[in-house]
Amino acid sequence: MAAALGIDLGTTNSVVCVSDGSGVRVLPDGDGNLLIPSVVSFHPAGDVLVGHPARERRLLDARNTVYSVKRLIGRPFRSPEVTRAQERFPFELREGPTQGVLVAARGETYTLPEISAFVLREVRRIAEEHLGQGVARAVITVPANFNELQRSATKAAGRVAGLDVLRILNEPTAAALAYGYGKGSRERVAVFDLGGGTFDITILELAGTFLGGDDIDLLVAEKMADAFLEHHRFDPRQDPQAYERLRAASEWAKCQLSVEEEVQLRIEELAYGDGGASLDLTFGFKRSALERLARPLVGRAFDVCEDAMRVAGIRPTQLDNVILVGGSTRMPLVREMVAEYFGREPLSTIDPDLVVAHGAALQASALAPDRPSVAPKQLAKVALKKVSLADLKAKNARRQELREEAAAALPAQPAFQPP
Ligand code: AMP
Repeated sequence: MAAALGIDLGTTNSVVCVSDGSGVRVLPDGDGNLLIPSVVSFHPAGDVLVGHPARERRLLDARNTVYSVKRLIGRPFRSPEVTRAQERFPFELREGPTQGVLVAARGETYTLPEISAFVLREVRRIAEEHLGQGVARAVITVPANFNELQRSATKAAGRVAGLDVLRILNEPTAAALAYGYGKGSRERVAVFDLGGGTFDITILELAGTFLGGDDIDLLVAEKMADAFLEHHRFDPRQDPQAYERLRAASEWAKCQLSVEEEVQLRIEELAYGDGGASLDLTFGFKRSALERLARPLVGRAFDVCEDAMRVAGIRPTQLDNVILVGGSTRMPLVREMVAEYFGREPLSTIDPDLVVAHGAALQASALAPDRPSVAPKQLAKVALKKVSLADLKAKNARRQELREEAAAALPAQPAFQPP
């Protein structure tokens, strides 16, 4: 029987899980990676790279490498979030026919569900390769504060990727399912989810805000840029490609500092000086310095917690448990602040990056326990392959069909009302 998949379609990374007779399993890609970057890169050769190879292209070809689509999916082009993203993202966004957002890359435009569909198709391919059979059904998770448009757009992405989406499940609900909640027990838990792009706290009511590891990376990248400017009298912020390398280095340093007290990094040829001489950045950074920088930002998460607690009419210490979700909750500072605020150690035995997919897989197997298997399909083709012009034309025609199908599945976007 082809099991239904649980897919955590994340802002930064996606995870695919299956729950069957042998328990819940995360399905790794061919290289053993459990996290599949939610990144799509349009290569000059016409290939569409997805996941790790796409994330590597982000450093070389930022303009044609698309990430963090989840921040924008289902939002009108003229919304403040999209306007802000346009300033921040190196790839180009355009207004689509129904006030939606299109991504422009290499002379083509793509809707956001189409971009997410590339990721979902890759996730599905990985699952099929691992399970050795075709998989057509999935539960996909979304933030609990996603509105109907955002949910329909995610569902449309699933359909474009050839998946029968059994349910769009809220991420905090999935995390609670993963820890065995949601089976009628009356305990109250908080789900503290600090990811790459958003922070969400869920108790009985939910509040979400744009806050995440990306913001910490930018603070660190600013420090690095200042150091480089002081040393070489060149501001790497002027060059989007150099800045992208700084941002990637700052994320690396931040993650290292979750386990080490201090890191040293060196970026070679960040810029070129007089006579083409290579200008390198050498940067040392301590966990204590990162924490000083990040503390006010992480503190904002607790302002949101306060609002949520007020709405729910409870105090942080009255909760039965706190569940950690999202890669940024690996930061020792975040764990300390959570423990202090809620007056208890949070639940963190399931990896914070995998817990949502874990719960989604449990839900998928509950929804589709013993339905007959779909006919085993040929495994989807690997994304990284050369295509002929004829193939490309056929693919473009098919894509247009799918795009029309996805557009038909979406309710019309409401016109954006300026505040
Ligand atoms: P998510 O959106 O849940 O996939 O979370 C991704 C975010 O978690 C990114 O900002 C990562 O930089 C961050 N992250 C992942 N691992 C770590 C780590 N070990 N320490 C700190 N942040 C991390």
